[in-house]
Amino acid sequence: MASPARPSTSRPARAKQRRGEGQWALGYREPLNPNERSKKDDNPLNVRARIENIYAHGGFDSIDPADLRGRFRWFGLYTQRKPGIDGGRTATLEPEELDDRYFMLRVRLDGGALTLNQLRVLGEISQRYARDTADITDRQNIQYHWIQVEDMPAIWKLLEDAGMTTMEACGDSPRVILGSPVAGISADEVIDGTPAIDEIKRRYIGDPRYSNLPRKFKTAISGQADVAHEIHDVAFVGVEHPEHGPGFDLWVGGGLSTNPMIGVRLGAWVPLDEVPDVWEGVISVFRDYGYRRLRSRARIKFLVKDWGAEKFRQVLQDEYLKRELIDGPAPEVPKTQIDHVGVHQQVDGKRYVGFAPIAGRVSGTTLLAVADAVEQAGSDRVRLTPQQKLVVLDVPEEKVAELQVAVSKLGLDSEPSPWRRGVMACTGLEFCKLAIVETKARAHDLVGDLEKRLSDIGLDEPLTVHLNGCPNSCARIQTADIGLKGQIVTDNDGSQVEGFQVHLGGGLGLDAGFGRKLRGHKVTSTELTDYVERVVRNFADQREAGERFPQ
Ligand code: SF4
Repeated sequence: MASPARPSTSRPARAKQRRGEGQWALGYREPLNPNERSKKDDNPLNVRARIENIYAHGGFDSIDPADLRGRFRWFGLYTQRKPGIDGGRTATLEPEELDDRYFMLRVRLDGGALTLNQLRVLGEISQRYARDTADITDRQNIQYHWIQVEDMPAIWKLLEDAGMTTMEACGDSPRVILGSPVAGISADEVIDGTPAIDEIKRRYIGDPRYSNLPRKFKTAISGQADVAHEIHDVAFVGVEHPEHGPGFDLWVGGGLSTNPMIGVRLGAWVPLDEVPDVWEGVISVFRDYGYRRLRSRARIKFLVKDWGAEKFRQVLQDEYLKRELIDGPAPEVPKTQIDHVGVHQQVDGKRYVGFAPIAGRVSGTTLLAVADAVEQAGSDRVRLTPQQKLVVLDVPEEKVAELQVAVSKLGLDSEPSPWRRGVMACTGLEFCKLAIVETKARAHDLVGDLEKRLSDIGLDEPLTVHLNGCPNSCARIQTADIGLKGQIVTDNDGSQVEGFQVHLGGGLGLDAGFGRKLRGHKVTSTELTDYVERVVRNFADQREAGERFPQ
């Protein structure tokens, strides 16, 4: 086993050797930070039994802190923020001072796929155990709040009886797999990725061999470019190979937050039935070679940046797959974001209808009412999207109008304004312990204000406006036309108030790239609507027909 390299002190003229990055494959098996220690001390998947057998009976105060702030995440549980603590104090308080006695709980919904029954179960859990909260996240999850540990056994029973899980919804693990909401029914997809998603989930989710990764591992698999594949740790994107036919183009190393990076193509074409094996190869490279010394450098993107696509592919082939991958072409990418909002024809002649809540906020009551409308429309399938939207599949043409009316009465529009359609927001100050500013309520007000003020502006495509409550990028601010990163700013009176750092001109698809952070370009929360209105009016005044927001 190699020991960590140390910088030389006796020969200063020599180039410094890099310190060990904690890569298992290079022999660094001894944990180099407390997170790694916690995972080594006990596999996080073991926490489920403790929750059911100990904590659910003993209540919040019986929870071991290492489980509370660490291993609980492997089952989708985070303590939520204590109410009333303003964002200016986030960085100054200890974690236990921010902890509420309630939890956020994420239900992983791979591919965003839901049956009518599952939708109802989610709604019932929300009403019974989560004070009617239920947010649609931009990772196609449902996120609850106000969950108590005592209720977890009953919640898991309801979820699992209906074929759902919270297993590895968070933590340093293979998280929910994004998939096309319209897989199998869209005329625009090259191939249906659903069998690969199902097989990966069946084989590897909850497998202890992949439950201790250096950091989170995000996957996207879609037959068309509708799942933000460029910013995933691993992504498989539908592509037609000139000789082999439909399959997937393999990407690795994308990610946002600090040091955002667009993923790189490995130039490899993967047939549908080999996707699970190749996925296992990539996650194994990450597990074994990923940097475990510093969490800030632990995502796979740092390894990919250091190695480059060629070396990554070589290691994947030589050490894990034991065979060559087939070279393949790049996929076609759209000019603008595909969000599936509105009424669209399926390949079988039925329709799918995409609805836009504001920034993913719904409730258990809403989900139950949507389920009734879906049943009334003769459908059994609903999908959540990576843009915090909800899509109803398999609607007979003659039922579309009735469905639209019924769901719009619940506050979800299928013909939304560009603002309702383009605004996304993360959890923010209301519940997130890392947050510095409020986001969901701010997004709600922003949409309402812009709908009134900008009703005279016609846009071919909705502009995307994403709000984050802190420098992490749960709402993908770097990929929005207008990205807003929550922070404390100084207002005109010199007071420290909630506000945002502005990033302009990000996007995915044809012009994938990150918005420019404009130095000194900050706006207070109360001035936000004025600011966005000004930016949009300037753009609308100066743009040529069909021109996208400047990158
Ligand atoms: Fe919380 Fe920050 Fe993520 Fe928003 S971006 S959900 S505030 S960690």
